[in-house]
Amino acid sequence: MPDLKVKLTAPNGTEYTQPTGLFISNEWVPSSDGGTITSIDPTTEEVITSVSAATESDIDAAVRAAHRAFKSEWRSFEGTARGALLYELAALVDAHASTLAAIETWDNGKPYTVALTEDLVEVSAVLRYYAGWADKISGKVIDTTSAKLTYTLRQPLGVCAQIIPWNYPLAMAAWKLGPALAAGNTVVLKAAEQTPLSILYLAELVKKAGFPPGVVNVVNGYGRVAGAALVQHPLVAKVAFTGSTATGKEIMKMAAGGLKNITLETGGKSPCLIFADADLDQAVKWAHVGIMSNMGQVCCATSRIYVHEDLYERFLEGFAARVKEVSVIGSPWEEGTFQGPQVTKRQQERVLGYIEAGLSEGARLVTGGKEAAGQGKGFFVAPTVFADVREDMQVVKEEVFGPVVTVSSFKDEDEVLARANDTMYGLGAAVFTADIARAHRIAASLESGTVWVNSSNDGDFRVPFGGVKMSGIGRELGEAGLDGYTSTKAVMVNLGTRL
Ligand code: NAD
Repeated sequence: MPDLKVKLTAPNGTEYTQPTGLFISNEWVPSSDGGTITSIDPTTEEVITSVSAATESDIDAAVRAAHRAFKSEWRSFEGTARGALLYELAALVDAHASTLAAIETWDNGKPYTVALTEDLVEVSAVLRYYAGWADKISGKVIDTTSAKLTYTLRQPLGVCAQIIPWNYPLAMAAWKLGPALAAGNTVVLKAAEQTPLSILYLAELVKKAGFPPGVVNVVNGYGRVAGAALVQHPLVAKVAFTGSTATGKEIMKMAAGGLKNITLETGGKSPCLIFADADLDQAVKWAHVGIMSNMGQVCCATSRIYVHEDLYERFLEGFAARVKEVSVIGSPWEEGTFQGPQVTKRQQERVLGYIEAGLSEGARLVTGGKEAAGQGKGFFVAPTVFADVREDMQVVKEEVFGPVVTVSSFKDEDEVLARANDTMYGLGAAVFTADIARAHRIAASLESGTVWVNSSNDGDFRVPFGGVKMSGIGRELGEAGLDGYTSTKAVMVNLGTRL
């Protein structure tokens, strides 16, 4: 049996043991055909290490392990006991936060300070939040007639397939593991092939926390092989996916074969509306956060900015200055870095392709517009602002998933609402105004799962998140996040002998 752990030292000096196998039934096993995924450091373009890539038969083993656990030992864990395990996992995440953050930064390229003080804080907060819910998931007694006692039970679904993306590997894992485990399901989780490492370290903590074998299984693998096998496995009851809309559609088709319960969180092209009465400094600050955080690799990034014509040039001036001042590009290990590299060469090229398209379609380049110079190595892209864009431009219509934003002006509310909603997506939207009536009116009319008033992209684990239109189905986080992991059973007790 090959050694399925390697000792590594991250670029910031963090020494740790990296598991490299498939985590099935609390054991590390190799891929059945010896296949691997090689992880590349996006900052230096050097190989970090290789990990096992699951085959169809490995997926079958993982799903069967989860199914066995669901049918046996895990059943005897009452809500309070499941909550205690999730609390323990959250505590372990906190205790190992600096190592987890180092792995995330190494593999993904996000600034270390962000990984540590934002992503890891979110991971344990989400796990704790759902730990608290574990013994508060209950049905209802429904008053019908005096001859009947009718009540509902909220029961777990069974084996949940969870497929996560590369932009927030640990946070996306927590969003999915927390509610699934709180509700009493078992899980097979597959990480994205671009960022396979942190999730394996988290799996080690799952075992340490005391989860019985098979309750949480973690694999890496290629989407078309491992992902597809997982979605179509007959013992999988539910599929939860975060990633691109194109893959989401594929998954929905595959899940249809078994009529499986699905939650999809897919792409976006979220608008940010700035009215003439908005606080300009606040609008500039949040508009920057809304698109430039996490190298622009955020599904709900507010990537289309619409500014009232009276404020347009002043906004552009302030926004360009903010981008130049705050979007410091560099090594993600440097304290002052705001923007690291894009996750892969492919993503860098994709983003640069959209920049090319914007330029050739005649958008006015305010800043950026190229590969970030002077880095030598790494998949860097300069933060890019296009102004005076038209709605038919590719850079306005399609999700770029990089530090690229378009800005255009508008005259009135109806016009900007129509333009904001003229997209196949509907994940997030922001509105900046001092007029409280307008704020609520616009919030109700924007076609999106979330609306931020006078901010952008400030999520909260207690608040449901998800999309409408082609941005997804179902909700994650908050109490609503539990709905996707429970089934409501009606029990009708006939108390008498009458019909
Ligand atoms: P993707 O959607 O292809 O991959 C996301 C996950 O789905 C990965 O774990 C992948 O292995 C898995 N997957 C891929 N094909 C599959 C299949 N046929 N069956 C089952 N699972 C499958 O995303 P990507 O190719 O890495 O990125 C492309 C674009 O997706 C990005 O540029 C961006 O627009 C979007 N994206 C969105 C999010 C988000 O949070 N909504 C995250 C990452 C990427």
